[in-house]
Amino acid sequence: MFTNLTKLDLKDKQCMSDAGSPKLCMKALPGEGAERSCAYDGARVVLMPITDVAHLVHGPIACAGNSWDNRGARSSGSQLFRRGLTTDIMENDVIYGGELKLRESILEVAAKHNPKAIFVYATCVSSLIGDDVDKVCRDVAAELTIPVISVNCPGFLGDKNIGNRIAGEVLFDRVIGTAEGTEEKIPLSINLIGEYNIAGDLWGVLPDLKNLGIKLQTAITGDAKFDDIRSAHRASLNVLICSKSLTNLVRKMEIRYGIPFIEGSFYGIHDTSQTLISIAKALNDPDLLERTLVYVQKKEEETRQIIAGYKKLLENKRAILFTGGVKTWSMVSTLAELGINILAGGTQNSTPEDFQRMKELMDPTAQIIEDTSSAGFLKIIAEKKPDLIVAGGKTKYLAHKTRTPFLDINHGRKLPYAGYQGMITFAEALTRTVLSPVWGHLKGDFPPREGELQDDKAQTL
Ligand code: SF4
Repeated sequence: MFTNLTKLDLKDKQCMSDAGSPKLCMKALPGEGAERSCAYDGARVVLMPITDVAHLVHGPIACAGNSWDNRGARSSGSQLFRRGLTTDIMENDVIYGGELKLRESILEVAAKHNPKAIFVYATCVSSLIGDDVDKVCRDVAAELTIPVISVNCPGFLGDKNIGNRIAGEVLFDRVIGTAEGTEEKIPLSINLIGEYNIAGDLWGVLPDLKNLGIKLQTAITGDAKFDDIRSAHRASLNVLICSKSLTNLVRKMEIRYGIPFIEGSFYGIHDTSQTLISIAKALNDPDLLERTLVYVQKKEEETRQIIAGYKKLLENKRAILFTGGVKTWSMVSTLAELGINILAGGTQNSTPEDFQRMKELMDPTAQIIEDTSSAGFLKIIAEKKPDLIVAGGKTKYLAHKTRTPFLDINHGRKLPYAGYQGMITFAEALTRTVLSPVWGHLKGDFPPREGELQDDKAQTL
């Protein structure tokens, strides 16, 4: 059942030996497996934001519960994707097998929710007991009028990145290119690959694409509709936003459908402009390029004018940056735009290229975070005494323990930071975080004296 999965090309999962470079080894270190996401979770991250399909988890209820809505992907239409659907495997299913239960669950989901398609996720337990999820899905699909797509991603296959990759394979093999009708390329159209519309990020970029006359065929997968992904092969260009997770997908789409790809990021003024210019160049339309150059200059001026007040308040603050993916390097220039100095930076789950790019952009005096354990972090915070920490949710409690202002820039956030509008939101959120009066209370004597509280209240008002 897992033959093709175990044959995944693992050459890019070798351990890196460079000091401070990201750990890409598949072998879980003791204790690490419990902290980091599994392959099943990684597949859910990629497929879950397809909003008009049902996502059915064939496993114990905890698998579905732990991964439910864990990325905060937003939808402008159907909310079906957020419905937690599971076969809830119990002891009896482990003994007698869960295939019948799966079959009944698929039929029930199809009848109750009328989805465009059903994705069925295999998990550790359903795989270990030998349920043939592929076969059940194939058999039930023959009785229904919608695709039933098995996603063979039991958690024990590896970490989140393996799951991302499996999801890319599923989309390539079973969804993209399956739309009926014309195969013609749509002029000036793009797919955004690895854009999950976290907190509405995608919606910060759409107005710019629209203003420039660029058509978004689909985002794989942010606020995505099943039928749009089926026609993703008609786009003229793929723009890879998260280079780690879906590189395999864009490479295969280039070979099969002749769609070239570029990499880009929509975090920060500089990278947003550069990505729009790169898109215009890659689409090979001189008029579009001319318009884009004028447009980005205007947007940059407008945005810088709006964030000037925040910059004044944030200038010369000193930060520790720890994130993954394109944000690894994109956030370096975003913080620099606000006049913030990076004392130390580090990454997890990024490609060696992302890491190298971050290193090149950072001031040579900035320290690379090599020890990413909690103890390592606490040590570096104690040494550097930063004014703020910009990182993912896992670092939040360490920041709070050390009473350091902290801003979550990963998937746990509630605010969109992409595009020019996202830069304004980011600058505002960072200013609020750093200047919040709460830090004064936390750093003062505890409990605060009555007079201090009243003084602070008066200042805030
Ligand atoms: S798939 Fe396996 S590792 Fe992942 S949540 Fe379920 S039981 Fe845990």
